[in-house]
Amino acid sequence: MIQSIDIRFDEIKKEKEESPKEIEKLKKKLDLLSNAMEQDLSSIEELKKERRTVERELEEIEHKFQKSKSRLSDVKTNKEYQAVLKEIEDLKELIFEKEEAVIKCMEDIEIQEEECADNNGNLRESQKEYKNKQEEFSQRIRDFHNEVKSFDEKRIQLCQNVDKNLLERYNRLRGNLRGRVVTQVINSICQGCNLGIPPQQYNELIKGGSIQSCPHCNRIIYWEDDREI
Ligand SMILES: [Zn+2]
Repeated sequence: MIQSIDIRFDEIKKEKEESPKEIEKLKKKLDLLSNAMEQDLSSIEELKKERRTVERELEEIEHKFQKSKSRLSDVKTNKEYQAVLKEIEDLKELIFEKEEAVIKCMEDIEIQEEECADNNGNLRESQKEYKNKQEEFSQRIRDFHNEVKSFDEKRIQLCQNVDKNLLERYNRLRGNLRGRVVTQVINSICQGCNLGIPPQQYNELIKGGSIQSCPHCNRIIYWEDDREI
């Protein structure tokens, strides 16, 4: 009984150490997502700025275009006429280019905004997951705390009924060995290390009345299960 309590103690300790690692991992994921979000937002800002610039340029060119068109009726010579016509053609081309650039910007903004929405969804989900894990972890710690507390009381009670020498030996062994330090012997084989107990000692063990240790692994051994501590 004391042994099962102690083994459970070990389990709890291990879990307590592992949960923060899990939470740490989630936190990292969360940071990555929020960085991605920030980047999305700043590239959207950049694109919008670019769009405004191109739109302003377009306005200027259109203004020039109108001016050139109105000049057509004022020209005196054919050469001049050709020159203004050429100017108008060039401006038309430029307007087309700028219009294309605005459309490209708008498309890019749309793509970025979609990506941003996706990232935002992921981010919210991760935040929820992170929060849940944290709550779960604190709940687990509270449960552990209660379990350990109830075990502590039980252990103290149990220890009072166990032979002092045996308990001392048990505690010493627990410091040195992992897991079970009290183990059964079946057909003269120690279940802790799987090695055989010498026949004479095995007979002593069956006879009972004394505390025996395995000569190979030092675990406290018992023959019947009612001797388990
Ligand atoms: Zn052994």
